[in-house]
Order: sequence, then C-alpha cells, then structure tokens
Amino acid sequence: MALKERYLKVVAVISALALTYIVFSISVAYFNNPEVTKAGYYYYAYFAVVFYMLIICAAWLFMGNIVGGIFLGIAFLVAVFTLFVFHDWSFLANGIAFIFIGGLLCKFWNKEHVEEYAVKMKTDDINESTNTLIEEFNREKVLEESLDRKILRISKLREISKDIGVSLNNEELIKKVTKNTIQIIQKPGMYQLYLLGEDMKRLELRGMNVHRAKTAEFTYLEEDKLNQWVFRSRQSVHIADLHRDFRFGRKYESAARSLIASPLITGNRIMGILKISNEDPDIYSVDDLRILAIIANLSALAFYNSHLYETTTQLAIRDGLTGLYTAGFFRAKLPEIIDDCYTKKVPLSLIMLDIDDFKLFNDKHGHIVGDIILKNVSSQLQRLIGTKGLVARYGGEEFSVVLPGSDGETSQELISNICRTIASSEELIREENIKVTVSAGVAENTPSLKTSEGLIKAADDSLYKAKDMGKNRSILYKSKQ
Ligand code: GH3
Ligand code: MG
Ligand code: MG
Repeated sequence: MALKERYLKVVAVISALALTYIVFSISVAYFNNPEVTKAGYYYYAYFAVVFYMLIICAAWLFMGNIVGGIFLGIAFLVAVFTLFVFHDWSFLANGIAFIFIGGLLCKFWNKEHVEEYAVKMKTDDINESTNTLIEEFNREKVLEESLDRKILRISKLREISKDIGVSLNNEELIKKVTKNTIQIIQKPGMYQLYLLGEDMKRLELRGMNVHRAKTAEFTYLEEDKLNQWVFRSRQSVHIADLHRDFRFGRKYESAARSLIASPLITGNRIMGILKISNEDPDIYSVDDLRILAIIANLSALAFYNSHLYETTTQLAIRDGLTGLYTAGFFRAKLPEIIDDCYTKKVPLSLIMLDIDDFKLFNDKHGHIVGDIILKNVSSQLQRLIGTKGLVARYGGEEFSVVLPGSDGETSQELISNICRTIASSEELIREENIKVTVSAGVAENTPSLKTSEGLIKAADDSLYKAKDMGKNRSILYKSKQ
C-alpha cells in the first residue's frame, strides 16, 4: 500500500509537469514567429528543462529540500545558459515560470503530502505494531488464563492427594473423591464413581453428584460396552460426541453425548471407574481427561491403602476361625463401652458363654468336627445378638458378649433363648446328627460392679454356677445377690 501511494504521487507530479510542458509548448509555438531560426533547438531545450524539472521533483520528493534545491539551481543555470545560446528572453521567462511552478509544486508535495505521507506511514507502522502487540497480548492472556487454570488444578490436585491420602475409611474416601473431582474439573455433568464389587463382575455405583438421577445401583461389566472397554484396555477414554464415536456410537445406549472416564488402577489391580458425562456434545477437553486420570490414579492408591488398612485391622481384631472379635479387642473396647453407658445413664450387661463338655465332644468326633461346631455356634451367637451388642471369642470354646443398654434380666432372657436355640439345632456331619449345648453367666453393671474386670469375673462366676447346676442354662449374677 505504501509503495502504491508513492507511485501515485510520482505519477501525479509527472502529470503536473507534463501539463506545464504542454502549456509551455503551446505558448512557445504561439509566441514564436516563423523567422526564428534554430527552432529545433528550442525543443531540445524544452526537453532539457522538462528533464531537469523531473529530476528536481524526484529529488525534492524523495531526497529532501537540500538536494531538491541543488537541482533547482542547476535547472536555473541551464535556463540562463540557453538564454546566452539562443538570445531569447521569452524563453527565459517561460523557463523560469516553468521552473518556478514546478518548484512550488514539488515544495507543496514535499511539505504537505510527503510529510503527511511519512506521518501516515509512521502511524500505519505504529498501528501495525500496536495490533501485533494487542494480538500478542491476547495470546499471552489466553495462555496465562490457561496457565492459571492449570496451576489452580495442580494445586487442587495437591490438596486432593493430601485430603484423600490421610483417609483410610472407604465411605469417607468415596465422598472425598467425588467432591474433589467436581471441584477440580469444574464442568457441568454427571460425576460417577464406580467400584468393582467383590464378585469382580459388577461395578457398584458408590459416588455421584446428581442424587435424583435415575441410575442403576450397579452395572454388570459385560452389560456396559464403555465400562468393558475401559476395563479391558485399562485406559482412559475421551468422547467428544458419542453420536459420532466409531467405537460405541449408535450401538451404545446412553443419554450422554460427551464423556470422559478413567480406570482406578494400582499396580495391575483395577478397582473401578471414574466417569463424567454430559447430555451435550463437546463439553470436556483432553486436558480434563488428563486431570481425571490423575485423580483416578490418586484415588486408586487411596482406595488400595484403605483396603489394606481395613484388612490388616480386621486381621488384628478378628479371630481367624470364627470371625468374631478377639479377646484382646474385647478387653480393650469394654471400658470404653462401660463409660459410654455410664455417661448415658443406661444399663449394660456382660455375658460369658461356654460350650458344654467340648473336650468330650472333641474326643468323640475329632478336632475337625469340633472346629465346625465352634464356627456354627459362633455364627449363631453373632446372628442372634446382631446389633444389640459386641460378641468375641474369649478363649478356646468360650465367648463373651457385651450388651450396652440392656439390663441383667433382659440380657438373661436373651441369652437363655440363645442357649435353647443352640441346644435345639442339629448339624448333620458325616451322616450323624450332632448338637451341642452351651452355658452362660450374665452380669449387669451396678454401682458396686462397674469395672470391666469386675464384670467379667462376675459373669464368669455365674457361668461356673450354671455349669455346676447341670449346664445348658444361663445364670444372672445379680439374682445371686
Ligand atoms: P465344660 O462343660 O466344663 O466346659 O467342659 P469342657 O470339656 O468344655 O471344658 P474345658 O474347658 O476343660 O475344655 C475345653 C475344650 O475345648 C478343650 C479343647 O479340646 C477344646 N477346644 C478349645 N479350643 C478349641 C478349638 O479351637 N477347636 C476345637 N476343636 N476344640 C477346642
Ligand atoms: Mg466348655
Ligand atoms: Mg471352656
């Protein structure tokens, strides 16, 4: 554009000069009489003047005032020189007029237009630079914004790793993972956390942000193509639009259009899927998926740790054969339960229960059958006590039960029912109907009997009393007083 404008100006100047020259020629032709000799020289002279005028214009236009002035001077000298050669004053007058007009024209161009043009050029340049700067600034701004978002996400990721890292409770973890995922991704949609069930065949929906959504509690792996794909490939999946996706597309029935999902993997163990979906297409970016995959990895590790913790804790407090709490755990927990009941001003009872003549039983049927019976009695006891209390295997074939909120009489009634139930249930082992009886001693915490040791001893005493009285019965300690 700049070049075009420059050419236009040159053309304009040349046109002005040409016009001047034509007018000048006509005037010379008019004033010249036929006697004037050397007419041809005139023309040469005109041409010379025109030529110089062009140089003057160009010099003025492109090289500035000094060079333009020098060329004007040369033109003037040439004009004076032609006067001396041709002795024609009218020519000199015309020549000078011609040079004067040309000079003025150049000066005008130079001063007004060239300067204006230069300013315009500069303004254009500045505008161009400004635009480039604005563009660059906008680009930087977008970059900065995305960087800010990334930094925010990363700092949130750090928080989530801290938050879920300290949690060893599965239910608490589920809530934390769902909440943190929503906070970090910050996009609308349905957030779902599926964990693999114990049968390893179905995915149980454990965490979700939309409570009212009609979604199945669990889904079998083989039924859901997408879950299956994530499980088999052990890879995250990003679907911009399910309708256009060749892997699932029309065959995959879902209300969602956009979807991102990541498997929860630690080592070679896959534990579940973290999934976000939306009914509109193109909601989630690849960056969202990357973040989701990181959350899924962190969560998988946390779930694995919580699982390990749970297992180890259970191993430590549960008896291997019967699955009941161990005596150690019972003894440790008992003072706490007693205190709690004391604070709440509710009664509490403790039961000691023992299988009758188990030594003889073992001698008769063998230890393996003895173990089976031990397990059966344990599970019956656990089932019949239910949530009313805490049951432990106190010794070989001896059990302890604590019933918070239950007084001695109620507890004795409960345990004598249990004694009857056990006595009446038969077990068919090796084509033989086998049954055992149990005896129990019950003690209620009273102002005179409020320590755990005292309670255990009192219940134990009652148990021996029950044994003395012929077994298969229960005795309440309080009733003796
Ligand atoms: P009582 O009616 O007076 O309680 O007679 P008892 O034979 O049951 O009495 P005692 O406490 O002397 O015997 C307990 C027996 O229980 C001894 C042992 O062989 C058996 N026993 C203890 N733990 C286990 C176990 O884990 N498995 C099996 N099979 N038997 C056990
Ligand atoms: Mg016994
Ligand atoms: Mg015993």
